[in-house]
Amino acid sequence: MIQYKNNSEVELIRDNCMLVNNAIAHIASLIKPGVSTLELNDIVDQFIRDHGAIPSFKNYHGFPFACCMSVNDAIVHGFPTKEELKEGDIVSVDCGAFKNGFHSDTAYTFALANIDDGLKQLLRVTKESLYKGIEKAIVGNRVGDIAFAIQEHTEKKHGYGIVRELVGHGLGRELHEDPQVPNYGKRGSGIKLQDGLVIAIEPMINMGSKDVYNDEDGWTIRTKDGKPSAHFEHSVCVRKNKADILSSFSAIEIAEKSNTNLCSDY
Ligand code: MG
Ligand code: MG
Repeated sequence: MIQYKNNSEVELIRDNCMLVNNAIAHIASLIKPGVSTLELNDIVDQFIRDHGAIPSFKNYHGFPFACCMSVNDAIVHGFPTKEELKEGDIVSVDCGAFKNGFHSDTAYTFALANIDDGLKQLLRVTKESLYKGIEKAIVGNRVGDIAFAIQEHTEKKHGYGIVRELVGHGLGRELHEDPQVPNYGKRGSGIKLQDGLVIAIEPMINMGSKDVYNDEDGWTIRTKDGKPSAHFEHSVCVRKNKADILSSFSAIEIAEKSNTNLCSDY
């Protein structure tokens, strides 16, 4: 069942989104070769708790960390590890915060300089597709319109693989609520979008084929062909004429630009 949010509930979710965006921006300033994703996870975990919230992902169905950290061929749900990041890696940082009864959910993929043009394009197109999906998250459209916009830009235009097993979702008192928001689908299909629907839109786009497998850790989802995958996620509220993006990449992108260990010109 879909839970529509009133304005004050939307503002609580926005606050939680901002907290996570600031946490991710903080680690954007710290990422460099030699740092491990586990160190970054622990910083985010502490940052969220220092601001009076609880990491949404920790203990979610037994997930043991505050963040999903998915490196290179890992698409989503990656475990932070002690392995040191190195030049040319891309790492998706996915995180949520729970406070005042509501969750947030945001993800951003960082690239440790220097990445090749193919990888730059994957990041750029995946991020663009997120905003193309968000453009369709308005009252009167259907979930399929969001899905179609993402699929058009990534799979049809650029030949990338769209993960079928994992989708965006409603968000609120639960981390994952109805409806599902796939990154592929038919225009005009699915439920009608109504005012106050809060959803996480999150294209997971593979450089190669759409096929995936589950790592032996039971959580990490990887590309079957071993090629890299990118992931960007915003929490948005459906409104008339224009979606309200509750999360923001602004602080993250500023930190990314000023960190010379990261590639930001893609
Ligand atoms: Mg997420
Ligand atoms: Mg999500």
